[in-house]
Amino acid sequence: MIPFNKPYLTGKETQYIEEAVKSGKISGNGMFTQKCQAFFEQKYGFKKALLTTSCTDALEMCAILANIQPGDEVIIPSFTFVSTALAFVRQGAKIVFADSSPNHPNIDVSKLEALITPKTKAIVPVHYAGVACDMDEIMRLSEKYNLIIIEDAAQAIDSYYKGKALGSIGHMGAFSFHETKNIIAGEGGMLTINDAKFIPRAEIIWEKGTNRAAFFRGEIDKYTWVDTGSSFLPSEVIAAFLWAQIEKLEDIQKKRLQMWNCYYENLKDWAKNNEIELPEIPDFASNNSHMFYLVCPSEVHRSRLIRYLKDNNILAIFHYQSLHSSPYYSNKYDGSLLPNADSFSEKLVRLPMFYELDVEKVISAILLFHDKVADSL
Ligand SMILES: *Cc1c(COP(=O)(O)O)cnc(C)c1O
Repeated sequence: MIPFNKPYLTGKETQYIEEAVKSGKISGNGMFTQKCQAFFEQKYGFKKALLTTSCTDALEMCAILANIQPGDEVIIPSFTFVSTALAFVRQGAKIVFADSSPNHPNIDVSKLEALITPKTKAIVPVHYAGVACDMDEIMRLSEKYNLIIIEDAAQAIDSYYKGKALGSIGHMGAFSFHETKNIIAGEGGMLTINDAKFIPRAEIIWEKGTNRAAFFRGEIDKYTWVDTGSSFLPSEVIAAFLWAQIEKLEDIQKKRLQMWNCYYENLKDWAKNNEIELPEIPDFASNNSHMFYLVCPSEVHRSRLIRYLKDNNILAIFHYQSLHSSPYYSNKYDGSLLPNADSFSEKLVRLPMFYELDVEKVISAILLFHDKVADSL
């Protein structure tokens, strides 16, 4: 069976974990954490990077930092993972769901301004599949209406908008190192801060509401409880694992791009002949090859394709149920219909994508799909 995802190990993970354990400093914010953070700050131009235990946690930190209060409105796409909404729901925000573009799962920026009210506090663009949202337009709205922009860059490591790293453009950003992402730590994430005024408070929230980070730098002579917060920082064991991945980042990205291009080149004629759409990368965006997906002409068609692949020992999956129609939120939702989000919900399918994948095998199976099942469609 070809799985949908297989976590890739670079080979150095256990060695670095052993080093972390033997160093005697296993809790958070040690040598490996600082190495990882410094790497990301330098390579991608974040003003501050803080490792977290997940992207979900990084988003929760963003919601606290943005000072989201009950009744505040936060605009997020409906076609996204639960965590994007959850962080703000926990602060009591009203979620205003935005539709996707007709031709891309990313938020439709042309319809964004109409969703802004005097209660709007923040917009959370999600860079779906690691492909940038139109950040110039989003930052224009941010300035015009004084809104905080939080990039959900969970899938967007090593990806760019007009040459600027994703996660470095909004006031803050959140990344994931979950085992399904490009570089991994099992469970793990990162908060990035680009507006320096949020940095001191971010460090405090990260360390259980204490000023311990400043204490360890010798800036104050005792540490104490100064604010709200939680235990958002991962242990050195996680950071050591992540460092092994960072060392191979370039190699991983090169390999993923080769596979992505292989999918694209080999499937484009087949897709055209069968009314299937392949991913679009706008001119302003780079491709970090996080994901390769297809958009089928109908839900029935998608189910057929997934079943056909399964019969051929290939696991393809779909996601997300639009959040505005989820069991948790649908009875609270009073906004308009979001046809594009619903359409991607029904028609999008993700193909296997991981470092050790035999992509040719998946391609040859897919190319025979219509021959084999056209009659039953
Ligand atoms: C993976 C993902 C998350 C959650 O990341 P975790 O590290 O598992 O918390 C959030 N948003 C998006 C868009 C994701 O793809």
